[in-house]
Amino acid sequence: MLPEILKIAEGYNVTFNPRTYGKKETLCKCVFCEEDSKPDKGHKFYLSLNTQDQLYKCWFCGASGGVLDFEMKLSGLPYEEIRTKYFGKRKKPRHPADRLNVRQLRTIGWAEYKRKNRAEFKKNREAVLRDWKRYEHEQLVKHFAMFIVVAHIENQEERQDELLRFVMNSCKETQIYLMFNRILAEYVKEDAERTSWAIEGAEIGRAAWRVSLSTYDFAMEKVVLNVSFLYYMLKMKKMHSKRNSVTNDKVSLAN
Ligand SMILES: [Zn+2]
Repeated sequence: MLPEILKIAEGYNVTFNPRTYGKKETLCKCVFCEEDSKPDKGHKFYLSLNTQDQLYKCWFCGASGGVLDFEMKLSGLPYEEIRTKYFGKRKKPRHPADRLNVRQLRTIGWAEYKRKNRAEFKKNREAVLRDWKRYEHEQLVKHFAMFIVVAHIENQEERQDELLRFVMNSCKETQIYLMFNRILAEYVKEDAERTSWAIEGAEIGRAAWRVSLSTYDFAMEKVVLNVSFLYYMLKMKKMHSKRNSVTNDKVSLAN
């Protein structure tokens, strides 16, 4: 069982907003940024504890996570040690689907499912993992494509910076671990050495770049739209060619 975040917070003498104490959303002073501990912010409580799902989030600094992560940060102990305290030592290696956190599961529509029925979730781990991999691949392709477009922009440094920040933020929102770093690592490689999603992404990115160039429209909404459109075009083309090759096989067998 997960420990209660309220108890953990109490154990570290966190200052609560008494009016919210014990409610589903309990507010307290943020122990991470301490912004609300400044003298002029006495009435502010930025850190929100979700006492139902055992999560925390600071509305000011954005620090967020689960209760084990919360205790890890407050105690300064390694995560594994905190985990062992509540769940004992790991007996066998975890299924990769079990390693996905709540937010990651939410992006692929499995979070509620896991919360409501852990046993059923366990039976569906392969499907969960497949959904995650598909999602991850699609996001990596699209973001790599967007990055390629932004990287191509010349003589507009301010605009480029702004778009780059957009791509970085969008990467963060995908919940894919270190996504922007992975994109950069692929970007610096030679075309032939790139991994499959980067090859697909580069193809789409170059096509999207040509579209943007023809209209000279580098508004990010347009680029995102073009990338999404081209992504599906490419996917359809692949499905089509796969179907064709199956048909061809049948023809050659018949002959
Ligand atoms: Zn904070």
